[in-house]
Amino acid sequence: MANAWLSVGANIGDPPAQLAEAVRRIAAHADISVAKQSLVLTTKAWGKTDQPDFANATLEINTSLQPLDLLDVLLGIELAMGRVRDERWGPRLIDIDIIAYDREVLQHPRLTLPHPHAHERDFVLTPLREIDKTVVDWIIENARISN
Ligand code: ADP
Ligand code: MG
Repeated sequence: MANAWLSVGANIGDPPAQLAEAVRRIAAHADISVAKQSLVLTTKAWGKTDQPDFANATLEINTSLQPLDLLDVLLGIELAMGRVRDERWGPRLIDIDIIAYDREVLQHPRLTLPHPHAHERDFVLTPLREIDKTVVDWIIENARISN
């Protein structure tokens, strides 16, 4: 069993309802259990700023899935919830990112661990600190030594 930390975000439709739906689908997967959940944070859009505010939350999960299999499950949930991939950092119904998977460091064409932008995004770090301060410290330290 591994521990992983996920970030869920949305900024069109009904963002808090979509976060709740994403959490429900994640928790319903046979190989994933949700151990902790942060409060929902509302923030201004990052990167591309002329779009509605985001709702964000983080989760800690326990899973028997390997990182790439977990990614596929999460991308499948995004697709099932109607996410259309177009504009980078554009508005989205649901975005589910893997922030960290145990203390693994991975550079794969489809998956970077820990998440390459996590250390510079308060909307990830703030709710993540709420559920596990030590993983936040590790993410920041990892970014410092790899830059
Ligand atoms: P972003 O989350 O950066 O706004 P997308 O959600 O459109 O962008 O993700 C694009 C791709 O990012 C995914 O198809 C996935 O392969 C890749 N990716 C790389 N690292 C991660 C990660 N840690 N968590 C989620 N996706 C990742
Ligand atoms: Mg994403």
